[in-house]
Amino acid sequence: MNDTPLPTVGFIGLGSMGSGMTRNLQAAGFPLVVSDLRREAAAELVAGGAIWADTAAEVARSSDLVITMLPTPRHVADAAEGPDGILAGIADGGTWIDMSTSVPDVVERIRTATADRGLRILDAPVSGMSVGAANGMLQIFVGGEAADVERVRPVLEAMGDPERILHVGGAGAGYAVKLMINQLWFSHLVATAEVLATGVAAGVDLGVLRESLIASPANSAFVERDVLSILAHGDYDEGFAIALACKDLGLSIDLSRSVGVPVELSSLVEQVFRRARASYGDRAGEMTPFRLYEQLLGRELRLEGAAEGIGAAA
Ligand code: NAD
Repeated sequence: MNDTPLPTVGFIGLGSMGSGMTRNLQAAGFPLVVSDLRREAAAELVAGGAIWADTAAEVARSSDLVITMLPTPRHVADAAEGPDGILAGIADGGTWIDMSTSVPDVVERIRTATADRGLRILDAPVSGMSVGAANGMLQIFVGGEAADVERVRPVLEAMGDPERILHVGGAGAGYAVKLMINQLWFSHLVATAEVLATGVAAGVDLGVLRESLIASPANSAFVERDVLSILAHGDYDEGFAIALACKDLGLSIDLSRSVGVPVELSSLVEQVFRRARASYGDRAGEMTPFRLYEQLLGRELRLEGAAEGIGAAA
């Protein structure tokens, strides 16, 4: 039996994702130091033995490695920089893993500014929604040096599916892979909504249309599996807010701009998502762009039961 004590993990950002991830770290036995803008978000963890810290600097000072799980690059910068930030508390040579969906710029700037401190910085964004965070089955895409990835793997394995924790390249590669996955998935969503609404408006039965698509070269995991969230359950996934989906699409386009690749289709998809956000509100689920097409059709697209009229945009 290995008696080496587990490292203390500092965790900043206890929202939809961070709350499940920290519960799994705690269940795996990692001592935790946690922080969030909302202190109440830590109540359950603290009751389970985690230590609360008022600032990100204090988190970094009191832990062996720091994890951030924050909404946007700006939030990551806020948590990292300034007198109360991670950089003010982390020891030279310390490890910081940013698991937020973000772009490389913030961490790159920090890496350059702290080059003489030997910090080990990894980007490790995730897929798998809040459900995957809650049940410890996230897919994790890690950018950084191989030795660092292996060193922190036990921590990542407490939050993700060991088979799907992928070292995808050097610094920034994790952010890029995650953004490209979201971009393609959101593009599938809009394409599928257009096709189903058009086919149904043309008089084809929804179930027949979907089965025909599945049997064709146009099949996709979205048509076969993910769209069922809406068609079978009327669930537009409020666990991931459309405001964050729009953020991801904006970051994806920022990334394409920074590397000089024109992305006409991605830009259109972003506009459809922004229209859905404007129509249904920031907290609406990430799949609500589908509702725009249902609204055009004047009915919900459902595989079972009568299609009901849907209300006006919120
Ligand atoms: P969330 O908005 O639910 O939670 C973010 C938390 O960060 C909040 O509790 C907020 O109070 C806290 N916070 C913000 N700024 C802070 C600061 N400076 N210091 C301390 N705490 C701060 O967001 P989420 O859904 O948990 O998403 C987090 C990240 O994970 C985002 O980048 C998102 O794109 C990504 N992501 C989310 C999902 C999902 O399904 N929700 C899936 C994959 C990836």
